[in-house]
Amino acid sequence: MTTIAPHGGTLVNRMIADEERPAALELAAALPSVALDARTLADLELIGTGGYSPLTGFMGLADYQRVIHEMRLAGGLPWSLPITLRVTQVKALRDTVALAAPGGAIAGLLEVREVYTHPKDAEAQLVYGTTDAKHPGVAQLYAQGDYLVGGDVRLLGRSAPAFAELALDPADTRRAFMERGWRTVVGFQTRNPVHRAHEYIQKTALETVDGLLLHPLLGPTKDDDVPAAARVASYRVLLERYYPRDRVLLAGFPAAMRYAGPREAVFHALVRKNYGCTHFIVGRDHAGVGDFYGSYDAQRIFERFAPGELGIQPLCFEHTFYCRRCDGMASGKTCPHDAEWHVTLSGTRVREMLRSGTLPPPEFSRPEVVQVLAAGLREVAA
Ligand SMILES: [Zn+2]
Repeated sequence: MTTIAPHGGTLVNRMIADEERPAALELAAALPSVALDARTLADLELIGTGGYSPLTGFMGLADYQRVIHEMRLAGGLPWSLPITLRVTQVKALRDTVALAAPGGAIAGLLEVREVYTHPKDAEAQLVYGTTDAKHPGVAQLYAQGDYLVGGDVRLLGRSAPAFAELALDPADTRRAFMERGWRTVVGFQTRNPVHRAHEYIQKTALETVDGLLLHPLLGPTKDDDVPAAARVASYRVLLERYYPRDRVLLAGFPAAMRYAGPREAVFHALVRKNYGCTHFIVGRDHAGVGDFYGSYDAQRIFERFAPGELGIQPLCFEHTFYCRRCDGMASGKTCPHDAEWHVTLSGTRVREMLRSGTLPPPEFSRPEVVQVLAAGLREVAA
């Protein structure tokens, strides 16, 4: 039995073997080094572990240009987000340089192949659909350097994961799927707690495939998101009480959020293919922020690829809710009743309720989940 092939056919591995690490670290210490921000460090690690297969390094100009304009690598393979290393100065940038994590530790090596420039506002407009610095992904781009450095990388050291038991690389999840005999697996990306609406979508998808990879993003997100520890605790209690143990794998997704909406939805799907998923759930306003994107832009963008070209099947869902007339979970596709019968709450409203000690109704969120989240938010406030 085999799982789905990685994007481009081969799972990239750019990790330096344990026995070579001491010598490589010694070499790296003598090299000029480039400091990475948190987002670029996350990218380096995902290149190293094969999460970004077929990428073997930071993009050069040919890949970068075609990705931002056509959502394809130079060779034609679909890829929707530029994966770049931006630096402020290029003195001493030749041959091999060391890549340093924000804390200063050596994280990897880069073989410098090319250094180039490209206007940031053009990248912002093409990738994020806006040049507005209020967009968090655009703000982060503007904060980075003006020079782009392309070349292959090798991963020397890993940052300590926030939740070690959830730190599964693509090779690990692929092995887990094989061991469980899952031929088809649906991936679910989230940076939020799982409420009834998400549970409904996951289980609707799970009715047609063998397994579910619940793959919450545990890397850097916006400050107003629920703390990761409370979220992880809420996933655990939900899975324990309401999901069959042999149908779900919970793992952390170590990427940083870019909030690039539609393009990030395609990116999230391709990366999950590398983790071994055959299907990927795309919800309403996937990876969006504020009102920068239309509710269903992240679903429509998949139509720009020929069937089979991405290799992973997007499963698009509408906004779902509990309907008091239907007496169950539903969406605009399955419920004929007026909105007054629907139990819906915004994420902001839910956080307000949890902080003030008012619990959202059980039709919106499982009571066990609500209790864990409320406790987590009280801890932050205290
Ligand atoms: Zn209804």
